[in-house]
Amino acid sequence: MNHDLTNRIQTLAQWLYESRYLVVFTGAGISTESGLPDFRGPDGLWTRRDKGLPPKPTRISWDSVDPNKGHLAIVELQKLGKLRFLISQNVDNLHLKSGIRPELLAELHGNTTKLRCVQCGKTVDRSAAHKVCDCGGRLGPSIVDFGQSLPEKDLMLSFEHSRKCDLFIVAGSSLVVTPAADMPREALRAGARLTIINQGETPLDRFVHLRFNEAIGEVLPRSVKRLKKLMGFFE
Ligand SMILES: [Zn+2]
Repeated sequence: MNHDLTNRIQTLAQWLYESRYLVVFTGAGISTESGLPDFRGPDGLWTRRDKGLPPKPTRISWDSVDPNKGHLAIVELQKLGKLRFLISQNVDNLHLKSGIRPELLAELHGNTTKLRCVQCGKTVDRSAAHKVCDCGGRLGPSIVDFGQSLPEKDLMLSFEHSRKCDLFIVAGSSLVVTPAADMPREALRAGARLTIINQGETPLDRFVHLRFNEAIGEVLPRSVKRLKKLMGFFE
């Protein structure tokens, strides 16, 4: 199995090397590796909410959680000039905290640390304690609740980049929430290679070109390390 994993990591590294337009898509799975609760897993927040159960008690406060090696591997892809766009379903701010440039990131479900203007859609840090946007619009939580529509600009950019990419990597999402789950389909339609790193099935498993059931922290950092070798960086 380890031999097989090494082979798949090598393939991913090669694809990263060849890629001119990489889009990464992350879900709760990347953050559970930082100790955050899952949303859609068997004991996830939303799964429990659907059953009418309160969130599982947790001692972790979101502010105290740090990006893990999966997040950092994506930052490394940004530094190498490989990452063209990052789409995330997570609201935990860990991508920005890890150093992802805001203009490369779409947060489809909002961000716990940000408020959004109901009028123009601009987001501001919650810590700034503003109540009103520059445009005069009211600022409310940026988190998207069930049944609410996703932020328009983030959604539009995500689809646009999905259609342009040649390599689409899903990390830690079971791809069940639409329209987010439609993005890898768009990428496939445009001819991109699709890689899914997720512990558990996804509806796109039949179409995937490279599949990892392993933890993201086991796959991405090693793939990026190999990529750096291919690019001529020696440590
Ligand atoms: Zn505004």
